[in-house]
Amino acid sequence: MEKIALITGGTSGIGLECAKKFLVNKINVILVGRNKDKYIEARKYLKSFITKDVFCDFIQADISSAKNCKSVIDTVIEKYKKLNILVNNAGIYLENAIEDVEEDEFDRIMSINLKGAYFLCKYAVPHLKKQGENASIVNVSSDAGINGNFFCSAYCASKGGLTVFTKALALELAPYKVRANCVCPGDIDTPLTRNQFAGDVEEGIKEASSLYPIGRIGRPEEVANVIYFLASPEASFVTGAVWSVDGGITAC
Ligand code: NAP
Repeated sequence: MEKIALITGGTSGIGLECAKKFLVNKINVILVGRNKDKYIEARKYLKSFITKDVFCDFIQADISSAKNCKSVIDTVIEKYKKLNILVNNAGIYLENAIEDVEEDEFDRIMSINLKGAYFLCKYAVPHLKKQGENASIVNVSSDAGINGNFFCSAYCASKGGLTVFTKALALELAPYKVRANCVCPGDIDTPLTRNQFAGDVEEGIKEASSLYPIGRIGRPEEVANVIYFLASPEASFVTGAVWSVDGGITAC
């Protein structure tokens, strides 16, 4: 059997394009999300890329608890006996002044963006070690996991944690030839970003685009291409990397 990739948040935006990229390249995908209807829509989008050689499966789960993370990995191993690639992509966004961030909002964003990725890695690692150089982890962080963004302290805390966690994990897994990297996208045109611009979406996108050296925000497939590369043998000497996919915004 070819490689198996688990993609959290694979039913929308960056994760969905990542699923397509993997399927096109004959890597089986298992998508994780809370909402099954999103998976049904995602599957329609992916239909022509699912062939007799490559499958797309779904695990309905909320990755914000360690218990659920364990159950996701157990399900994969029970059903498919192995895991090669873990893409920790599920995430949520919060924009607010620090005085207005409540404890439950802070806990929620940390649980999904950082704790979920951490515990999925914890439970996946024993299985990834068995695959050695045929295994890798890609965590989807953010430009906000490198630099501070305005009114974004809780999101930055979660993504900054994810960025440095990835580096530490890369060191721990290097003796086993398992690689761990993260991508740090800038603004990407996905449902998450469009919700952020609620009101006048096109105006919001135009305004955000003007901040980017390259003159526009990104497309989800542009992040998926880098995730695919980092997960592939083409990146065999890349581990612990923090890879910006942001039209140059963190170069400013
Ligand atoms: P999106 O379109 O909103 O998709 C998010 C995905 O995550 C959905 O499939 C969602 O499915 C899933 N998800 C959310 N909470 C979950 C949970 N608790 N358990 C399991 N699945 C969950 O977002 P996106 O823009 O593609 O973002 C993907 C990642 O890129 C996120 O980590 C985000 O922080 C990061 N990022 C995005 C941008 C951007 O501009 N879009 C920039 C930098 C970084 P359900 O709702 O069904 O659970």
